Amino acid sequence: MTRPKTQVDLERLLRGDRAALARAITLIESKRADHRQAARKLLDRVLPHTCKAVRVGVTGVPGVGKSTLIDVLGSDLTRQGHRLAVLAVDPSSTRTGGSILADKTRMARLAVDPNAFIRPSPSSGTLGGVAAKTRETMLLCEAAGFDVVLVETVGVGQSETAVADLTDFFLVLMLPGGGDELQGIKKGVLELADMIAVNKADGDGMKRAAAAAAEYRSALKILTPPSATWSPPVATVSGLANHGLDALWRTILDHREKLAATGELAAKRRRQDTRWMWALVDERLHARLSGDAAQRERVRRVEQAVAQGEISPTAGADELTALLGL
Ligand code: GDP
Repeated sequence: MTRPKTQVDLERLLRGDRAALARAITLIESKRADHRQAARKLLDRVLPHTCKAVRVGVTGVPGVGKSTLIDVLGSDLTRQGHRLAVLAVDPSSTRTGGSILADKTRMARLAVDPNAFIRPSPSSGTLGGVAAKTRETMLLCEAAGFDVVLVETVGVGQSETAVADLTDFFLVLMLPGGGDELQGIKKGVLELADMIAVNKADGDGMKRAAAAAAEYRSALKILTPPSATWSPPVATVSGLANHGLDALWRTILDHREKLAATGELAAKRRRQDTRWMWALVDERLHARLSGDAAQRERVRRVEQAVAQGEISPTAGADELTALLGL
């Protein structure tokens, strides 16, 4: 007998059954109204079993070495007995129909590792929508016993901010590019970083990586640190040669320990929860407005009328909120 899609075996999920986990994630990613309701109920039930994992965000331009580093570090972690989930936030996947992040073919070792679970980015519309689904997927993974969650992203739009908002520790990977590097970097990304790791510090890249690290150190000095207890360190690493990854993991644990001791970690997660709530409200309002074809057409007309100066933004907002019954 096939089980209806809206039913997820909670016991199996909590025991870490991958099929039950995959099924639960499919449910929360579904746009169908009955699935959404079932997903909400499921999330309520798993919530007491969440919040246990070390949540790490990883960002860096394509080619910086994210998948190589995650594959190598992740395999070290599973060998030490951890269970690792790799997720992705890739808003561009909405347009291209597929995410290049958290792709099993890019992480050959983790792809066949029974203690690793890789899930590509949901492609559910807005960045807020993608981030909300990723947060829910993270919670399901935690309930299924994954004690380390890595969330990968590239600098598309505000995706770094969204991932920093999902995680406890935000790792920014940089290329060993020397002086020009800094100019291409969004200042906002440095502000989000809990650590900068200049990757590919191996062979010919070693010297350039050290030079780049020195630049980032001075760049960080003029920024306000993210917390009174934590000044983001800058390290050189090589994912490919597995150099510095041990120390990187120890830094993540050190950060966790320090911020847990001061209560900052709990406060950070509570702030994230509040923002998550508003993101959900936002998403639901948008979903209501784009409910059926006629509704979407009315919204489009109002938007057009405002864009062409035919009606004021206030009048437009009045019309749209009237559609919501407000
Ligand atoms: P991603 O796009 O950020 O996931 O980057 P990849 O992990 O796919 O790596 C991009 C390219 O850089 C590949 O050709 C890798 O072999 C190479 N690469 C990744 N990590 C390192 C490293 O630590 N050192 C060197 N020299 N090359 C690396």
